[in-house]
Amino acid sequence: MKILFIEDELKIADFVLQGFSQAGFETDHFTQGTIGLKAAFAQQYDCIVLDLMLPGLDGIDFLKQIRGAGNLTPVLILTAKGDLNDRLIGFDAGADDYLSKPFYVEELVARVKSLLSRNKLQESNLLSVGHLVLDRISRRVQWFEHSMVLSQREFSLLDYLMRTPGHIFTRKQILKHVWNIDFDPQTNVVDVCIQRIKKKLTSTSSQQAEFPIEAIRGVGYKIKTTDV
Ligand code: CA
Repeated sequence: MKILFIEDELKIADFVLQGFSQAGFETDHFTQGTIGLKAAFAQQYDCIVLDLMLPGLDGIDFLKQIRGAGNLTPVLILTAKGDLNDRLIGFDAGADDYLSKPFYVEELVARVKSLLSRNKLQESNLLSVGHLVLDRISRRVQWFEHSMVLSQREFSLLDYLMRTPGHIFTRKQILKHVWNIDFDPQTNVVDVCIQRIKKKLTSTSSQQAEFPIEAIRGVGYKIKTTDV
């Protein structure tokens, strides 16, 4: 578990870092918002613990910038600004939790753990291979900037392929899994369904050539594993 911790008061930072280390978290600590922001864009963290009053870029602006860029990492605001209005501004900017100073480090660790487990639960609904992301609850698929809800059959087919990237599935296997057809009806429904998914996601995209469903001549289909 990797935490990004942005806090300019070194005394507070010291005992928080100690608490995080005891909890088994790996932590990157920065005292300035601008440097923390670079780190947030440079790598994936499991949780961000954010002070609000920081030199340079303040916490709320930091939060607005990462959310504006589509970064959904859970954020806990840790601040002396504990009024209701401050909290509301924080949640409005995209915070997931809020803890006012003074605080107990045990409570901070417990809240971070809670955010981490909630995030994990949400992630398990998402299946991704490279830039192709499938939400297994809503049946929504995302390919670069394109996003759409699939029909039950389209979803079932894509889910089947994406669960074992790189594996070649025969048309027969796909027919059995998606249409529950056990014999070879001499039909091209599999090909038609795959073409439909591809067409819907690449119609106006320049990424068409890289779309990761690959046809294996005379055999079937697979999801390409090479990340682009
Ligand atoms: Ca501060």
